[in-house]
Amino acid sequence: MPGFEFFGDLERKHLNDVLESGVLMRYGFDGMRNGHWKARELEQALCRRMKVSHAQLVSSGTAALTVAMASAGVGAGDEVIMPVFTFVASFEAVLSVGAVPVLVDIDETLTLAPAAVEKAITSRTKVVMPVHMCGSPARLGELKEICDRHGLLLLEDACQAIGATYDGRPLGSYGDLGCFSFDYVKTITCGEGGAVITNNAAYARNADHYSDHGHDHKGNDRGAESHPFTGYNYRISELHAAVGLAQIGRLDEFIGIQREYSEVLRKALETLPGIRFREIPEAGEENYSFLSFFLPDEKTARAAHKALAEEGVDGCFYWFDNNWHYIKKWEHLKQLKTLGRLPREVMAGLPDYDKADFSASDAVMGRTISILIKLGWSKEEVAQRAAKMIRTLKKVL
Ligand SMILES: *Cc1c(COP(=O)(O)O)cnc(C)c1O
Repeated sequence: MPGFEFFGDLERKHLNDVLESGVLMRYGFDGMRNGHWKARELEQALCRRMKVSHAQLVSSGTAALTVAMASAGVGAGDEVIMPVFTFVASFEAVLSVGAVPVLVDIDETLTLAPAAVEKAITSRTKVVMPVHMCGSPARLGELKEICDRHGLLLLEDACQAIGATYDGRPLGSYGDLGCFSFDYVKTITCGEGGAVITNNAAYARNADHYSDHGHDHKGNDRGAESHPFTGYNYRISELHAAVGLAQIGRLDEFIGIQREYSEVLRKALETLPGIRFREIPEAGEENYSFLSFFLPDEKTARAAHKALAEEGVDGCFYWFDNNWHYIKKWEHLKQLKTLGRLPREVMAGLPDYDKADFSASDAVMGRTISILIKLGWSKEEVAQRAAKMIRTLKKVL
């Protein structure tokens, strides 16, 4: 997945443009910047690549989720339905706007089970947030139908899935709003950064203002701008945008490499009875950043994960025990360990996650292993890895 494997001359050129002008800020200083507007250019490139009318760069993927919700008017007490398998950022962003994260079960797509979403809807629900985990799409068609029927926003967390598609449309562009992360370990990276994309002009305007203290960005005099509403500083810097501008041009090259390597590993694992693969919805195509597969049961999956590590097959994840990605280990959320008090609406609305039953998700996650696809492997390394995985897995199956 990581674009950091392939930094090159173009990243350096864009960075030098910024350093030579000395303008590290994305707004203003028009006379000093030698015509360089890296953040603006990256937004235009994102619009073209994602086939949307608007893109707003921000300082991280977490900020993108926060800004996306704020832009659509999500606030205190609103409920946001999201999966139990994601990255902690998803619920952090929800809490940061005063909304309530309502966690629901996943299925073998490794993200939202539509029936679980439907069951969790209340009069306070405002958003359904599928997370396209490990580069593969959620059941977006079914989720959109649920959202349309109940008048809910569909907000795609596509932070791990840039370049993947559903119904031929880039992930992130299918819902009302979509978010990407360009942190250091994502498919393309700025070091730190993120983006909100949408075809809704009002959300786009709100995102533009909100991520820069509510400034309306009218005219050339920043000091004279007005503030239609309060905001925060979620700006990206020109330095980060410069790196991203080089990387976005390589997205399809990166995905092509990932597809090739992922398919070699998949074909190898297919020969093993007892191994099944993560379900990819029929209308979807993944970005191949991970290859995720199921072992017959939790015991075998644990043994397989251990054996793969012992044999030196690195980059294999057993998410079930991971405290960044699965609810089982989110003690800080379950026990509400916060520095200050949460808004009253959140305290009143948060389900008791310690008592909630996620056995359906446990049954999927307990059997799942994902292998990270690295861009920097050689073809020989991939073939050796495939052979080693088969040898190792045969012993535990
Ligand atoms: C990385 C990630 C985020 C947050 O992105 P940051 O840029 O690290 O803040 C959000 N959701 C998912 C699923 C992620 O993988």
